[in-house]
Amino acid sequence: MNHNPAHNLALEEMDKACLLHPATSIADHLANGPRIMAEASGVHVTDTRGNRFLDGAAGLWCVNVGYGRKEIVEAVNAQMSRLPFFHSFTSMSNEPSIRLGDKVLRWAPEGMSKVIFGSGGSDANDTNIKLVWYYNNLRGMPDKKKIISRDRAYHGVTIGAGSLTAMPVYHQKFDLPLPQIRYTRSVDMFRDKPADMSEPDYSKLLAGELEKLILSEGPETVGAFIAEPVMGTGGVLPPPEGYFQEVQAVLDKYDVLMIADEVICGFGRLGARFGSEFYGIRPDIMTMAKGLSSGYLPLSASVINDRIWAVLEETAPQMASFGHGFTYSAHPACAAAALANIEILERENLVGNAAKMGALLKTRLKETIGDSPIVGDIRGEGMMIGLELVKDRETKEAFDLSLKTAGKVQAKGYENLILVRTLPHRDVIAMSPPLSMTEENVEALVAGVKASVDAVADAYK
Ligand code: PLP
Repeated sequence: MNHNPAHNLALEEMDKACLLHPATSIADHLANGPRIMAEASGVHVTDTRGNRFLDGAAGLWCVNVGYGRKEIVEAVNAQMSRLPFFHSFTSMSNEPSIRLGDKVLRWAPEGMSKVIFGSGGSDANDTNIKLVWYYNNLRGMPDKKKIISRDRAYHGVTIGAGSLTAMPVYHQKFDLPLPQIRYTRSVDMFRDKPADMSEPDYSKLLAGELEKLILSEGPETVGAFIAEPVMGTGGVLPPPEGYFQEVQAVLDKYDVLMIADEVICGFGRLGARFGSEFYGIRPDIMTMAKGLSSGYLPLSASVINDRIWAVLEETAPQMASFGHGFTYSAHPACAAAALANIEILERENLVGNAAKMGALLKTRLKETIGDSPIVGDIRGEGMMIGLELVKDRETKEAFDLSLKTAGKVQAKGYENLILVRTLPHRDVIAMSPPLSMTEENVEALVAGVKASVDAVADAYK
């Protein structure tokens, strides 16, 4: 690594001169420049200035097995030497993607039937929209095309997935959403659930609203409902008790498919293999990415269940071919990375560790900053924790967003050598560390978060 400051400056200027950064304020970036990461090991990431951070975000909720896993590097190396690429169009195949398909189905809940790979969560959700449309056309229901998403959902940024995403910043000036997308009320136990209402009643209320929406649109026009088991980017919002059971009863009643977007929750993050397993969801389609390869190489998967496959198979003789897929669907090196990644998750029981360390993380955060004047709520499941900051704990009054309070905590985090992330909606700090965290790592993260929150609270006094 080069710690020469002049070298850094050159790189920073080069970055500003040539890169357009995703989900970044262009004005801030041009004023402040990038933070350039150079290397990583275990749960730590080091930047080009030599700062070694505990990565409380696992990159972008994705490095589930942590950094520097030689097994993944070696598996990819070997695959790159043997067969760096071949496509999967027109019945072509390769061993790692076949073995990965088998592994994914073994991990998935019962009834899931076939896997089609992509490169990221967004393209997988676009694939899912097309699968819903294709399925309903094949079974003679060409009007059943609307897809219901939820307020504040994040499902990616491509044209279809970006339409399912329901936050203004991802729509404005991009001419989104597509006309077939609808939104229903989201789960929010901190701000939306009336204090005197039980969780099961809140679930009934939300499912009732979904039913009203389906009825007002006309059930014959509604093809699918999509949800993240725990909503991530929208604020780390777990569902109230019984939510998915109530919702599934409504979907079953009107023959509406359930798409579980497991991009964040999948592969252990909640302390179960998938959010679907954790909450008893019966998905028709699952979106997977991130933890599938722990981000070592880009990879996603759309997984369909028996019911959808049965229609595809039955109508196949009348169809020329399944006209969908990408050059990199079933990329052998990415599949090799994912296989090695899942082997690590299994061998080290990282799903069990996520449950244990996640519970510890939440408990310790509550013990250390639960009484902070600016902490309104500490929530989440497993290794997916959110911290909502408020101006007034009693009334839950939010800070003026222009103060960027969560951003201030994130910036203090850099000084305290921890990485946590602010989310685009409200003052929420997200924590989603690698599933390989030890107790000692949890304590270090909690200490860093506490120091950062305390510093911002003090500055507001
Ligand atoms: N779905 C969910 C739930 C996500 O959190 C994300 C990304 O954060 C996506 C989809 C999009 O994935 P990608 O950024 O790989 O396109």
